[in-house]
Amino acid sequence: MTATEKKKKGLDLQWKILIGIVLGIALGLFINVTYGAGVTTGPIYAIKTVFKYGGDIFIRLLRMLIIPLVFASIFMAIVNLGDVRALGKLGGKTVGFYFLTTALAVAAGLLVVNVFNPGLGIDKEALSALGIGTEVPGKVGRAGVGEKSAVIIIIDTFVNMIPKNPVAAFAKGDILQVIFFTIFLAIMASIVGKASDTMTNVIHGLDRIMQKGIMAIMVIAPYAIFMLVAAIFMDLGFAALKALGKYALTVLVGLGIHAFITLTALVWIFGKYNPLKLVKAVAPALMTAWSTASSAATLPMTMSNLTNRAGVSPKVANFVLPLGATVNMDGTALYESVAVIFIAQLLGVDLTFGMQIVIFITASLAAIGAAAIPGAGLVTMGIVLTAAGLPLDGIGLILAIDRILDQFRTAINVWGDACAAVVIARSEDAISEPAEGADDLAAEPA
Ligand code: ASP
Repeated sequence: MTATEKKKKGLDLQWKILIGIVLGIALGLFINVTYGAGVTTGPIYAIKTVFKYGGDIFIRLLRMLIIPLVFASIFMAIVNLGDVRALGKLGGKTVGFYFLTTALAVAAGLLVVNVFNPGLGIDKEALSALGIGTEVPGKVGRAGVGEKSAVIIIIDTFVNMIPKNPVAAFAKGDILQVIFFTIFLAIMASIVGKASDTMTNVIHGLDRIMQKGIMAIMVIAPYAIFMLVAAIFMDLGFAALKALGKYALTVLVGLGIHAFITLTALVWIFGKYNPLKLVKAVAPALMTAWSTASSAATLPMTMSNLTNRAGVSPKVANFVLPLGATVNMDGTALYESVAVIFIAQLLGVDLTFGMQIVIFITASLAAIGAAAIPGAGLVTMGIVLTAAGLPLDGIGLILAIDRILDQFRTAINVWGDACAAVVIARSEDAISEPAEGADDLAAEPA
């Protein structure tokens, strides 16, 4: 792109979104400090309401695209592979890589939480002033209770991938079921051959239309994200953040280690790709993930960034990313392991090494089962708590600052998917470094 063309186009999308985030934080904090959090009347409330609607419209537009996009892109990815064995190889590699990175994430989480011990020596008075009780509710320390149910829940997740009724799966927006049906349909189409050409052409058209749709929605991303972030920071509870600061910091350090060291090394060594270039390419998706706290809502952006800006072939990206958005949640797995040990420490329960292994396994599985929506990790954490013999009410201890941590772990979930796409694409010889100035808004759909 020439300098004049660039000037005409204005700032790159990632800078616009970053400015939106910074201004959103500044405005939200200003209102929070001046008027207090949680205002429910008057003009400030009106502004907050308008902003929340603005953010909601953006998230709804993105979510509107997910099902048709996942359907069309996976179908085309598989038909273009042309060989069912190639699909088996790609699928095996993808699932294997996802298990590996999730396990590494939990390991990082367990490492930092055992070094920082955020639940020991915490100011319990500050917590109780916030209405957060640290008394042990009910019996705890029943080692091993619930391990079986954790496994059953995960087996259920896999069995439930098979939709009893594909139309219902599409209507419900069940991404895993849609993926399963689409893979099945695409394999059958490949086998049928010529007779399925008309259908394939229609789906190819749908795929291109959806990709254009993402580009259209991206235009409003910086403004919508500004509103979304401002509304979140207007309501942020600083007292809770302070009281639970050490815990939050432990989660963030763990996420940092996984994102900057583990995943970056994998991209560098196995993906043979400059991690800085990758960050730049997927920055819009990472910032959208951080703002929306939903990997599912971010999925259209992730797919577009990887194919149009990072040079990953749609053949790989369109298969690896939708699956990753739903089953590969490194940030969530890491956060669950830290949170459960924090809760145990706060309640004065000593966790043995064996119990930490149980947490290691169940946190990895619970993250696979978590939906790609805000707060989902908090729900599946019940699996880990039960397995560790801790009371479910323990979740109440960390609720107050969950949203902000959700934003960070969601960004790492998406970063994990992006890194996986690069490493797997490299192993399939399906990646090229992007051209200078490559941008979703300028690109023609692949
Ligand atoms: N919000 C996360 C996501 O969408 C899931 C979680 O709650 O950890 O990836």
